[in-house]
Amino acid sequence: MSASRDACAAVLRTEAITKVYRSGLIEVQALRGVDLSLQPAEIVVLLGASGSGKSTLVNILGGLDRPTEGRVLFHGRDIARLPEAALTAFRRAHVGFVFQFYNLVPSLTARENVALVTEIAADPMRPEEALERVGLGHRLDHFPAELSGGEQQRVAIARAIAKRPEILLCDEPTGALDSATGVTVLAALVEVNRDLGAATAIITHNAAIARIAHRVLYMADGRIAREERNAVRAEPSEVTW
Ligand code: ADP
Ligand code: MG
Repeated sequence: MSASRDACAAVLRTEAITKVYRSGLIEVQALRGVDLSLQPAEIVVLLGASGSGKSTLVNILGGLDRPTEGRVLFHGRDIARLPEAALTAFRRAHVGFVFQFYNLVPSLTARENVALVTEIAADPMRPEEALERVGLGHRLDHFPAELSGGEQQRVAIARAIAKRPEILLCDEPTGALDSATGVTVLAALVEVNRDLGAATAIITHNAAIARIAHRVLYMADGRIAREERNAVRAEPSEVTW
């Protein structure tokens, strides 16, 4: 695919984004010029050591933060300089987030945690459907404390996908889980990606996980140092760490 066609098809594309965190006299250059694109239905794994800028990049992709310089194009429209309300509207309508710690509301059941999102979305799936898609159709009325870590993370994935986002951003989704449990979470992500076709970015510092991706971006020191395409993708069940 040519570079220009690649750019046209992208759901999300960054151009030369930098991020400088300033506190007092101290400056941290977290991103030093990142160009990337996310295509519909692909899984990109962002791999890199702690501090290499992965979370900063993904937060900017999802409109949780803004770059210091550069553009973030959602279907060709720059979101980096949108007014706050418009940026929030972009995030609500188009982006699902999954974080390392599941951030479920402890006093609500799995179904109710997902419903929190579907109540404010334009064309959501039913909470039951979202939970079925991650293999939790039998846990609808359980509270977070009654679920394993892997199950709680799958509720978080159900919550993220229930609004049918075009973009799914996962920051260390298996970071708090052992290998066997983490695999169930990766399997859920691969399956929803296959069925719903969101452009999916998975951040990890765990190289084994890169095998499930279509494409792997290696981050180092605020830059994408290398990019690889997996000729053959591993099934999540083949991945261990
Ligand atoms: P990663 O997710 O790869 O571990 P981060 O994006 O969290 O990396 O961090 C990249 C760099 O930016 C690190 O040096 C980190 O300390 C710094 N950083 C991240 N967030 C902030 C912040 N809110 N204020 C100041 N520095 C930050
Ligand atoms: Mg991080």
